[in-house]
Amino acid sequence: MSTRPHSVLHDRPPSGRADGTPAIEFVGVHKDYLSHGDVVPAVKPLDLAIGQGEFFSLLGPSGCGKTTTMRMIAGFEDPTGGKVFLAGRDVTDVSPNKRDVNMVFQSYALFPHLNTYQNVAFGLERRKVGKDEIRRRVGEILDIVSLTGMDKRAPREMSGGQQQRVALARALVNRPRALLLDEPLGALDLKLREQMQVELKRIQREVGITFVYVTHDQGEALTMSDRIAVMNAGVIEQLGSPREIYERPATRFVAGFIGTSNLVDGNVDRVEDGLALLTYSPQDRVVVPVAGTVRPGDRLEVSIRPEKIDLHREVPPVSATGGSVLSGVVSEVVYHGTSTNYTVSTATGADFTVFDQNASNAEDLAERGDRVFLTWAPRHSYPIGV
Ligand code: ADP
Ligand code: MG
Repeated sequence: MSTRPHSVLHDRPPSGRADGTPAIEFVGVHKDYLSHGDVVPAVKPLDLAIGQGEFFSLLGPSGCGKTTTMRMIAGFEDPTGGKVFLAGRDVTDVSPNKRDVNMVFQSYALFPHLNTYQNVAFGLERRKVGKDEIRRRVGEILDIVSLTGMDKRAPREMSGGQQQRVALARALVNRPRALLLDEPLGALDLKLREQMQVELKRIQREVGITFVYVTHDQGEALTMSDRIAVMNAGVIEQLGSPREIYERPATRFVAGFIGTSNLVDGNVDRVEDGLALLTYSPQDRVVVPVAGTVRPGDRLEVSIRPEKIDLHREVPPVSATGGSVLSGVVSEVVYHGTSTNYTVSTATGADFTVFDQNASNAEDLAERGDRVFLTWAPRHSYPIGV
């Protein structure tokens, strides 16, 4: 990890305070736009605290309010109501250039006629920082973003990924309290984007600055974030670590938006030892852990991740599963290299997706039209929104 404990970004007291004051805090912040006389509620009243040094992502589909939220942190957009705090200070009425946060966009917005060094040094020169200090700080930050030796290059002489690093260096060299990144990797191809995700995470760890990252790409958010806020229609539907969000999506929307989820409805027949039983036929049943409030007759929606399910050609003995068993017919088989993905029309009426890791060179488990049985352990199903 970092071999630069006293890098550029650490030679002032850490931004924020050691007392746990959030780097960024929203209290009842909301935003309505007026568009041709109509009120567009872009962000509904939002309470949010982002910790000092955290890599925090806002994840959601286009139009859900991510950019608006970001612009209210930066001060480019005034909230319709509520208060914004940075390191404990109310900045709701403070202009963007006095907020000590920087923003990086997908369009790098570099000065085309300036080289790397000049682009990064620009802000420091304007603030009349001494020449030697500028040289030191620019050198250190170019090192951190892996651009050493590129000082003299003009933007047009560099790849998209390198230009993005220059933009990042330019934003970080000012030592902001927080860096706001709005879909910064959107213009890069997949391979480069994945490399930059790992790099961004490393850079953030090294500089120790709070990053707020906006993306509609769930893989990106899962890879980099300490915590993710999943937004839908101006509301945060779930806030948690990547693992919490993936393993236990709180709503139907989150379950569908993050990865692939199988969803099945059913009436509870029995509740025993904290497990609810939903039966669809004498052989077809779903077993799901539930809270004490769930009663027979209740309707439940249950979610199961595709990689948790085993696919069999023969009816598995009940004792071998102790959990859910659904019969079905394979309607699709797609080979993905590392896994084979099956679509199975089940007796519940729902189509299930099953991922089978291609750990051995064995042939596919089943073909289109085959009758199969799906099983999974109780702990791999969970009720949605209960
Ligand atoms: P995202 O970044 O998640 O795609 P935005 O924050 O850009 O979402 O937009 C949220 C909602 O607000 C959308 O419905 C969008 O059409 C609307 N919106 C954004 N900016 C304006 C504006 N300046 N005037 C009116 N409506 C806007
Ligand atoms: Mg946006």
